[in-house]
Amino acid sequence: MAARPVRLLERSQDGIPDLQWIKKHVPISAVARLLGVRVENDRAAHCWRSGHQNGDRTPSMWFSKRSNRGQCKVCDRHTFSNVDLVQMRQEIDGRPMTTAEAIQWIAGYFPVPNIKKKHLGKKDQPFRVGCGSRLEGLIRSGLWGQLSHPEGKILMVLTEFEGQALSYKAISRYAGVSTSQIGPALQHFGRMGLLKVIAGTAKKGVLPDSSKYTVTWDSEQFEKLLHETFETTKEEVAAQKELRALARKERAAQLHTKVNLYSPSESVKRLADSLGGAANRKEREGTA
Ligand SMILES: [Zn+2]
Repeated sequence: MAARPVRLLERSQDGIPDLQWIKKHVPISAVARLLGVRVENDRAAHCWRSGHQNGDRTPSMWFSKRSNRGQCKVCDRHTFSNVDLVQMRQEIDGRPMTTAEAIQWIAGYFPVPNIKKKHLGKKDQPFRVGCGSRLEGLIRSGLWGQLSHPEGKILMVLTEFEGQALSYKAISRYAGVSTSQIGPALQHFGRMGLLKVIAGTAKKGVLPDSSKYTVTWDSEQFEKLLHETFETTKEEVAAQKELRALARKERAAQLHTKVNLYSPSESVKRLADSLGGAANRKEREGTA
């Protein structure tokens, strides 16, 4: 899909679009609509990728209002942000948009505030993954923050009761979540490569045994996701730096222009030039 060259909002060049604000407050369903995704209501959409029948007639894509993230239950192993979605759908010169371009694209459509003085110091840098505890890796990669509240709590319980038989009722009680939230969370962990389930055996006439759950922290699939998420976080930090450098350059250019205008002879010359230029342009257009 080609990038729309429309830029609806005139933006101040003071500072850069606030990425955290975008991810939190620009509704992912609204972004999806702008990108031409068929959104059913604010919570569901038809996935555009191949691997769905009849253009994904029954919507497979879901948007979470709480986390403002989306996910196709067929294509995606994990959730994506509104910025990720722009990068998935928009191209410039036949290549996907960079993170910085996607941020600017969103800021062109929504009233995104700028952040000014905040410098991206060392504290904002994502950390190396792979050292420290398993939980540390999960948190530092950015993946932990992307899980929903019930998912986070359920994961804690499964980790604590590693390899033990647990019923949905027990998980619900320990995690403080409703039983209806457990199935989707376990499915998500499965797609993330984070969970191995040994189903309880069903005997005739009695309730099946509870399943046993193993959190597979060292599975190849999960490791890969951890690194991908870490890379995305790193790209976002780099994109903010890139935008900041761009803003600085634009400000410097503006300043330069202003200085020139303040010199009287220069300003008169400039005015004459621009008027002459405009007149010449009009003439050219008229005769064309
Ligand atoms: Zn899909």
